[in-house]
Amino acid sequence: AIMLSLRITPFGERKKQRLVVGRDITKIYHLNMIRRDFVANASHELRTPLTVIAGFLETLLDATGTPDHHRRPLTLMRNQTDRMCSIIEDLLTLSRLEMRERPEEQESVDIPDEIHLILQEAQTLSNGRHSVESQVDEDLLLLGSAPELRSAFSNLVFNAVKHTPDGTHIRVVWRRSADEAEFSVIDDGPGIPPEHLPRLTERFYRVDRARSRESGGTGLGLAIVKHVLNRHDGRLRMASELGRGSRFVCGFPAKRALIRDERDEILGDEIQT
Ligand code: ADP
Repeated sequence: AIMLSLRITPFGERKKQRLVVGRDITKIYHLNMIRRDFVANASHELRTPLTVIAGFLETLLDATGTPDHHRRPLTLMRNQTDRMCSIIEDLLTLSRLEMRERPEEQESVDIPDEIHLILQEAQTLSNGRHSVESQVDEDLLLLGSAPELRSAFSNLVFNAVKHTPDGTHIRVVWRRSADEAEFSVIDDGPGIPPEHLPRLTERFYRVDRARSRESGGTGLGLAIVKHVLNRHDGRLRMASELGRGSRFVCGFPAKRALIRDERDEILGDEIQT
């Protein structure tokens, strides 16, 4: 079979005719598949030896016989191993997202519940250094995959914690608008220079490499967010201004939004007579 990418453009007098340009993308498609499988296999193969190394480092650090002057290098090694583990986990998440066109399960996801859990984790991560506020439509649910949506939303919230200094104000909003369900994370941190915005969802793209490595980022978070949104017919919108902060918005079409049936919550199941 060959894969074609088709572009249809109106042309001719009063644009009544159609010009169809087909491009054979079979090769690109196959190369992409090889790349995808390679990344998935390599990450998978690296995971086991890395887990073994991490385990032994932990044992050495816990042992009372370990000389003091070994503790510092061992701690550094442990931290770097942890980083590698996070990168590999994120690469595996991305490959899994790429393997399947659509989420396997479509369920009504209790987004308000997910947000409350994510905010608790964010508080732990921030350790009181940020002020976090939320405005959540408690009755608004979304049709999709719970684990995928959880990872997308938590990436955005944790980014606002990781990439902004102490004292930053973070606001998380989940609401209905005219034709969308919208999840937003807004911070009044240092912001991102506008020229970087279009490239932020590329794998391993970071604004300030050194600083974001320090903050424990893998550079894969926004790539994961973008994939998850694509699979939920959603769009990621971002706006940022230096010195004023950043806003990341996930917009989902209204057809995916569900309203919680309050009768079930209050009275339980109905009987029919
Ligand atoms: P990382 O793992 O580094 O967080 P991401 O793909 O999630 O990778 O983000 C890419 C880069 O975008 C980050 O390294 C950081 O430079 C920038 N960034 C993301 N969110 C914010 C934010 N809220 N404020 C400032 N910079 C941000």
